[in-house]
Parts: sequence; structure tokens; C-alpha cells
Amino acid sequence: MARRPSPKGVALYFRNLGPRTQVALCQLPLSLIVTVIGVMTPVGWPSLLGSPLYMAGIALPIILFGACFLTPWERMPDSSYLLIPVLDLLAIGLLRNSATTLLPGLVVLVVFPVIWLAASGLLVRSSLLLCAVGPFFIMLPSAAGKFPVMTATDLTPLVLFPLVMLAVSLAIRFASVNIRAQQRELQTLSEELRELLAASQEREKLLMTILDATDVGIVAVDSNGDQLLANDMTRRWQQNAAAAGVLRADHSEELVFAQDKITPLPPDKRPLRRAIEGESFADYLVWIGKGPQQRAVSTAARPLMDDGGRLTGAVVVFSDVTGMVEAMAANEELVSNVSHEFRSPLNSILGNIDLVLEAGDGLPAITLQRLDVVQRNSERLLALVSDLTLEASAALNVHPKRTDISGLVETSIGSAQAYAERAAVALMADVPSPLWAHADPLRIGQALDNVVSNAIKYSPNGGTVTISAASTGDWVKLVVQDTGMGMAPEDAAKVFSRFFRTESARDAAIPGAGLGLAITKTILERHGGAIACASALGGGSTFTMTLPVESNPGG
Ligand code: ADP
Repeated sequence: MARRPSPKGVALYFRNLGPRTQVALCQLPLSLIVTVIGVMTPVGWPSLLGSPLYMAGIALPIILFGACFLTPWERMPDSSYLLIPVLDLLAIGLLRNSATTLLPGLVVLVVFPVIWLAASGLLVRSSLLLCAVGPFFIMLPSAAGKFPVMTATDLTPLVLFPLVMLAVSLAIRFASVNIRAQQRELQTLSEELRELLAASQEREKLLMTILDATDVGIVAVDSNGDQLLANDMTRRWQQNAAAAGVLRADHSEELVFAQDKITPLPPDKRPLRRAIEGESFADYLVWIGKGPQQRAVSTAARPLMDDGGRLTGAVVVFSDVTGMVEAMAANEELVSNVSHEFRSPLNSILGNIDLVLEAGDGLPAITLQRLDVVQRNSERLLALVSDLTLEASAALNVHPKRTDISGLVETSIGSAQAYAERAAVALMADVPSPLWAHADPLRIGQALDNVVSNAIKYSPNGGTVTISAASTGDWVKLVVQDTGMGMAPEDAAKVFSRFFRTESARDAAIPGAGLGLAITKTILERHGGAIACASALGGGSTFTMTLPVESNPGG
């Protein structure tokens, strides 16, 4: 048989039957009808029993049916089974011409071999020719009987019937060609799909291998928090955190804690829940578990969106940063302890210098000058130690209350006055009095001192420092503006990072540790406020601090 595109359903069942049964099934309809006619003959048309041609016409399709089963088609060429419809045409010819008067309609049986020949797709031209020539020869004897006195009515069936059968065979041929083309197209498509599927499975395997090779947990979830993909590390986290349940979004019994390691995180603050709410975040630190098993985990999340921009889920990444967090804590503790230990000897040095200077009338001028240098440097050292202690202390506590900011500005200007004079900097203030804010006077005084002393310090050629303040709705704005050396705008964004110093400050050998503004920022944030810096290199700097007027809106 000819190779055909892989069929489906009934067609597949037919293909699986084997050639003998297939050929027999094609022959079955005609054989059945002829058998019925044969059975009815003794009753309906007994006169035909005496016609050997008629009896041969009845017997032939039935014998052919049996032959279909017995012939080893699998060992013969594909086209050999066309012999069966050809012999069928012969049988129909015998029947038609031996029973023309009694059973003129028998000729329609021709349609069975015609369909078979046309649909086979084998020996196409010969088959189609047979579809017209066969019926012609079947009709020929009855027309020839009228020869030579033939009317148009006698000739019509002789011409028309073969033409109709030819038309039927052509229609069947076109339909089957069409079906085969569609089958081929479908097969090509299904092969392409299979290849695409195999390629995507390959890529998925590669992706999972890469994900499994990383030492961070990566999990993708849908918008309900159900897992779509998780790497090995995530599974390990899931096992470890079974009690902690960090990877489940809304289990209230999960052991997930805030940065202080003991405050349980409410479900809506947990990484996965925040992620499926559509939040995008990085370096969100949580603690998982309790006791010695407790781990510090830095989490990051990105939302997943469909083409329409709708949230479909999120990807969350978990990395174990316990070692780093512990090292930082140990470092801070060390700095805090060392700074603390430095204070007592420094205070003793300063106290003793004060005493020497107070009673130092008789000392030579050069000694007094040197002692002055020692005193100034000891003071700087003490200031540096205080900054380090404050910075290292995680608990920079603020106790905000109703505070008059104009009073704080006045005090700050008072203490900076001498320094400003020495640096040839004019101090100006434009602050309404009173100006109430919700602030810790000690801490805000400290923040203001930091910013004002910076403004003087970074104006090496003198200039003007202006402190202005005003209330704007819920906030009090405190602005310190100088005309000093300024800094590049990209540096202005970094000045609040610990230990950051601009290149120009270092080049100009202006002393400093890069901690003052980091502490100032912390102080303002603890009040629910903020600090910002705008500056241009050589164009002075403006520091703007915001504080809540009444209560702390930031919580
Ligand atoms: P430092 O002890 O170095 O002054 P700060 O944290 O107070 O530390 O300031 C960080 C850096 O920001 C400074 O080293 C300096 O480079 C820059 N800076 C701060 N204030 C000013 C200012 N008013 N003008 C120019 N640069 C400034």
C-alpha cells in the first residue's frame, strides 16, 4: 500500500486492520447488496434463475469477497487490489445486461467500484478512465441491441451515464487529494510541534540545571501564591523552614521574624505575600526559624506580568546571609567597645590639658601653642569616637516632643559662631519664632550642628551659611545653605552613606570620617522625617531637613 500521512480515529483503526481485511471491507457493501438481490431472486424474479449470466453476476462479487481475505495482498504490488473493483464492474455488467427489463436500476451499483477506483489514489489516470469506460461498456449491449434504428433517447444513457460516473470519480479524486494534502499539512504541523516541545523541554532542563547550580533559593509563584517553579535550594529551604514555613504566603503560624529576630512578621509583611501583592523589592532581610536554627535571609522579588500588564505572579529569591549579618554585628560591637574604651583616656587628656592651660600663665608661648594643638586634636578624636559609637549603636533612640525649632537654630548658631569666625564664614538665620515641630531637641540639635559645621568646614575660602526654616502643612522644613566648595550632583546622592567622602574634600585635606551625615539621616528618619542634599561643584550646597509638625506620620 502507498505510504500515507499518519491517520487518526477511524482511519487509524482501518490502517491497523491489515491489507486483507482492508480490501475485504471495501468490497463488503457491494457483496452484501448483491447477496440480498441473490436471496430475493427466487421470490421476486424466478425467471432469472435460469440465466447463467445473471447467476454469474450474483456469484462473482460474493466470490471476490472471499478472495479478498485469501489473497496475500501484502506480498503483491499496491495496485494489484484494483483488480477487485475491475471485476466488480464486470459482475455489474453481467447483472445489468441479463436483467435489463426486470431490474433496470441495477446499473447504479457501478457507484461502488467507481468510488473505490477514484479514492484509491493508485494508477490515477487508468482508474479515472476505467470509471468512465466501465459504465460505458456496461450500457453498450442494451444500446447496441437497438442498432441501427437508434433514437437520441437510446443514446443518452450510453453517453450520459459514463460521463456522470466520470464526474463522480473526479469529485472523489479531488476530495481525496484535498484530504491527503490537509493530512500532510497536519502531519507537518504536528511534527513541528513535537520538535518545538522537545526543544522547550531541553531548555527547561537547562534552566533547571542552572537554577539548581546556584546557592540561592529561587521560586516562581502564581498570583495565588501557588508554586510554578522552584530550584533545589528552594526545596532545601522548604524542608528547613517546614516549621518556619517561610515559603508559604499566608500561614499565620510561620516562624518569620523582623530584623530584631523576635518580632513575628505579620503575614502581609512576609516576602512572598509582598511579592504576590505586586511589590518589587531587594535586600529585604527577614529571620527564619527559632533558636540555633534561626537564619538571616535576604529576599528580593520581581512581579510577573502578562502582555496586558496584569499581575500573574512573582519571582522571589532567598539568600542565606546569616554569616554576613553576624560578622557585621560583631564588627559593630567591636567598634562600639573600642570607641567606648577610647573615651575615658581622651576625656582624661582633655581635662588635664584644660587644667594645664588654666594655670599656664607662666608657660612659654610655644608650649601653650603646642598644648593648643594637642587640645584641638584630642577634641577631634573625641568627636570621631562619639560618631563611631553612635553609628555602631543600633539603638539610636529618639524621644520626640513639641519642640521650638527656632530655639534649636539659635543654640546651634551660638555654638558654631566661634568656628565660623575663624573660617571667615558669615552665619545668617531666617527662622520664625516660635516654630513648633515634633522633635527630640537633643537629637535634632545634634543633626543641625552636624549640617551647620559641615557647611562651615566645606567653605574653605569663607562665605555665607544661611539657616532658614518654615512650616509647610504637616511638615517643618529646615534648610542649611552654604556658598562653599559644593560637590558633583552624583556625590550629593551618596553623602548619606557611611564613610563616604568626596574627592575634593579629601584633596583639600579637610578632616572628617564620613559618618556625620549618615548619623544625621538616621536621626531624621527615626523622627519620620528626611534629609536631602542639592549641590554643584564649586556652587555651594543646600541641605533640606523635613520634620513632622505634630505627630510622627512615619510611624
Ligand atoms: P565628614 O566627617 O567627612 O564631614 P559627613 O558625613 O558629615 O562626614 O560628610 C560626608 C561628606 O560629604 C564629606 O566628607 C564631604 O565630602 C561632603 N559634604 C558634607 N557636607 C558638605 C558641604 N556642606 N559642602 C560640600 N561637601 C559636603
